[in-house]
Amino acid sequence: MFDKRLMAMCPESKKYIVGNIICQWTELMVNALMIFIIANAVGKLYRNEMTLNEMIISLLILAGALVVRFFMTKKTTEMSYLASKTVKRVMREQIYKKILRLGNTYREHATTAELVQESVEGVEQLESYFGQYVPQFFYAFIAPVTLFILFGLAGSFKVAGVLLICVPLIPGAIMMVQKIAKKLLSKYWDQYAKLGSTFLENLQGMTTLKTYKADAYKNEQMNAESENFRRITMKVLTMQLNSIIIMDFFAYGGAALGIVLAGKAFIDGDLTLQSTVFMILLSADFFLPMRKLGSYFHVAMNGMAASDRIFKFLSEEEPKEKTSMFPERGLDISLSDICFSYDGEMQVLDGVSIDIREHTFTGIVGESGSGKSTIASLIMGRNSIKQGKLTIAGINVSDINEDSLFKNINYVGIGSTFFKGTVRENLLLAAPKASEEELWNALAECNIDGFFKDENGLDTLLTENAGNLSGGQKQRLALARAILHDAKIYIFDEATSNIDIESEELILSKIKKLAETKTVIMITHRLMNVVDADRINCMENGRVSGNGTHAELLETDGIYRNLWNTQKELEEYGKGGAT
Ligand code: ADP
Ligand code: MG
Repeated sequence: MFDKRLMAMCPESKKYIVGNIICQWTELMVNALMIFIIANAVGKLYRNEMTLNEMIISLLILAGALVVRFFMTKKTTEMSYLASKTVKRVMREQIYKKILRLGNTYREHATTAELVQESVEGVEQLESYFGQYVPQFFYAFIAPVTLFILFGLAGSFKVAGVLLICVPLIPGAIMMVQKIAKKLLSKYWDQYAKLGSTFLENLQGMTTLKTYKADAYKNEQMNAESENFRRITMKVLTMQLNSIIIMDFFAYGGAALGIVLAGKAFIDGDLTLQSTVFMILLSADFFLPMRKLGSYFHVAMNGMAASDRIFKFLSEEEPKEKTSMFPERGLDISLSDICFSYDGEMQVLDGVSIDIREHTFTGIVGESGSGKSTIASLIMGRNSIKQGKLTIAGINVSDINEDSLFKNINYVGIGSTFFKGTVRENLLLAAPKASEEELWNALAECNIDGFFKDENGLDTLLTENAGNLSGGQKQRLALARAILHDAKIYIFDEATSNIDIESEELILSKIKKLAETKTVIMITHRLMNVVDADRINCMENGRVSGNGTHAELLETDGIYRNLWNTQKELEEYGKGGAT
């Protein structure tokens, strides 16, 4: 019923929670005082003993009590707000910091949509937990005990005792409901997160869905998931309503019992009229705090289900603090005996060992799906390696600080990101100090200068992710940007796949020149691109089938030879067909 982790998260909330309880308790005492005065007046009026003075004093006290009560109600709300304000901030901060600490690997633990939901909606639910549920939890026990004492002093301990015994029936009912509620709410949040993920994915992939006319199908899928969510929401609501009925039964039944008992004691002559009125008017207060706790309970349960998920995420294992900086010299890259799987089931890399010497031009080839891009992503530290070792200049990649790793390894893949803005802005990202001339040179080296000259030069506007360029133009621009950036290691992953033959040759020669001063890794399925590489690694189904120069591989590696022969045949055929 009570989550210690949540309290520990936010110790400063404690004082506001205590404040809240004190305010509520004071309000109860003031209430009791008011009812005492009223009961007293009724008794005296009945016996015709009330003087005008007494009447005026009673009214004055009542007015004063009303003012105090109003003030206390206001204070209680304020305390609720203060108690929950910090917890929301602290929780969100923790999630955010956790994402930063997990770095690139956070996706291994939760989807982006899940995290957004948990840190926005989930944390919001905690507000009621701290602001209402926790203070009420204590107050609901303190109030009946207080009233028991007051009833005993002002009336009859017998009636008070019976009422006190009835109070635990309400938490008993709550506890029974809790068992069902916990499972149901965890399902509810699962479904909610699932719906959110699907929605985000479909929204982002809208164009693709439209292209394949699959939007109608996805629409139906979403409808089905929404329907599931509606059903489970209804179940939650039904459960809540049912439990409220049970709690009301005990709360108002208990109050009625109190009234009947007090009435009977009055008829039997055991109680004065004053005491009877006092007890009748206050008997509901015995049960109402518990009843209120019950209604907060559902909101709190929801918050706790959300917080369970948040705590699970917060306790995910983090990569070690990465203190090593990217080494300056001797940048040989060594992969030794690496086995890797994205999902823990399908083995993507299986005992891969590759050596890449500094300032060489290394090719990684192989059929699509053989694990080439995965190797690139491991070198860049995007995924954590569980088996095997990957070092740069002898330092484990997993120990190298991420910022310095990203700064020194430049990856150019098919899906390079561009930002809305001018060509200049996008190029200056890579080299903030580059002159106009250097920018044009880079564009010329990648054979894209002509296109931009015809447009608006370096001021040509790019739309979001350069949507207004063709695939080939985008790749050439990405290459130009990479060349401008002064990284130590370059990884080109199918970076020339969309480019016409003439430009490709030009770019390839530029890349080879780059390899004189930088380490260049060329990942490609087209063997032609790497024939004169210093060393080629041929991949086949997650294994290295062989390595060496082009000539050596033709001799020693059957897989490579087959790939080469097939590609050459196709090319010859292509030429033959054309002429
Ligand atoms: P290549 O670049 O040689 O075409 P990849 O390294 O991209 O091959 O992929 C190798 C295998 O790993 C493929 O079977 C692919 O399905 C799988 N794979 C690639 N990326 C992921 C990912 N992010 N999550 C799960 N599986 C992946
Ligand atoms: Mg690939």
